[in-house]
Amino acid sequence: MRVPLLDLCQQNQTLRPGLIGAFERLLSTGQFILGEEVAQFEQQIAAMAGVRQAIGVSSGTDAILLALMALGIGPGDEVLCPSFTFFATAGCVARVGARPVFVDSCPACFNLDVADAARRVTAKTKAIIPVHLFGQAAAMGEVMELARKHQLAVIEDGAQALGAEYGGQPVGSIGHFGTFSFFPSKNLGAFGDAGMLVTNDDALAERARILRVHGSQPKYYHKLVGGNFRLDALQAALLSVKLPHLASYSEKRQANAAYYTERLGKIPGVVEACSPECVSNEQSSSGAKILLPAPHARRTHIWNQYTIRVSGPGRRDALRNHLAKNEIGAEVYYPLPLHRQECFAYLGQPEPGLPQVERLSAECLSLPIYPELTRAQQDWVIEAISQFV
Ligand SMILES: *Cc1c(COP(=O)(O)O)cnc(C)c1O
Repeated sequence: MRVPLLDLCQQNQTLRPGLIGAFERLLSTGQFILGEEVAQFEQQIAAMAGVRQAIGVSSGTDAILLALMALGIGPGDEVLCPSFTFFATAGCVARVGARPVFVDSCPACFNLDVADAARRVTAKTKAIIPVHLFGQAAAMGEVMELARKHQLAVIEDGAQALGAEYGGQPVGSIGHFGTFSFFPSKNLGAFGDAGMLVTNDDALAERARILRVHGSQPKYYHKLVGGNFRLDALQAALLSVKLPHLASYSEKRQANAAYYTERLGKIPGVVEACSPECVSNEQSSSGAKILLPAPHARRTHIWNQYTIRVSGPGRRDALRNHLAKNEIGAEVYYPLPLHRQECFAYLGQPEPGLPQVERLSAECLSLPIYPELTRAQQDWVIEAISQFV
């Protein structure tokens, strides 16, 4: 049985009439850049993310870049961010001329280890970028406490976590800025590149809106050096058709995750990782061959990825090959941590090192979890894993 890592066609196929209607609307209005479609979609995202301001942008990457630019972060500044994340988180820091300072990760929830971040604060630290990795909120209570103590700006990278909550608060609404991506593989996927920047700070929002259009206000009079970071009206119109279904997509992912955890947990040698509250007891799960992801009680998980850890040298890649032979798609997010990327060699290696990140990048494997996955497909994945263990 074929089980792809992701299948976008099924989901979009069921929305065909609405999507075609949106496209035809655009064809007749001819309003392709910003305008009413973008403004309406911004309002919809602001409402669901519990924020005053949402600014439609060209990608999740540009949302992070714009946040840093609006905050005035640049040369001489340091920004704390995880090393175990997608490249854009740190790439944007370097692009504004600031220095990414890489932080270790929690082995249970894969998110930034805030105690480790605290050790790396210096007089130059201006901001911190917690990432809500794989769809689960980072430890935002501790992040905000650290930020208050050192007067740091907080940019939540919510690219993988639109709709997730921390202690009842939507991610993206807790820090100074929140960023979202509608890259097709995210829970709310566009038909190309698209993103959103959100904030509760009206002055920062105003600055970001000006920077989004080359820093001009009014047109052709430039207050700031910005860029072209606009969201296409077509993407906004198409995403508006999908947005009402986001909650049900995420619920299906949650149901799929629960099913994996229940069934995989019955295989000898496969255990649920200790939840993030009890990481210090992690030894209790040592000896396990496969660790299953454990969601945190106070943080909802929308399962953009269902990521297991496979211990033992070479075992993760062996499992991936075994799954591929059974026509099952699985992916390694992320095989090379950011502090080991060639482009960041000029930063030198973090001191102290990042032992959990090294381990995660060697052990993590993400399984198919998309909403349209069938039970039969999941059973096939579970069967293949049980043959391997
Ligand atoms: C996808 C992603 C981004 C970038 O989003 P794009 O829309 O692809 O530019 C940034 N951070 C994280 C954690 C992501 O997963």
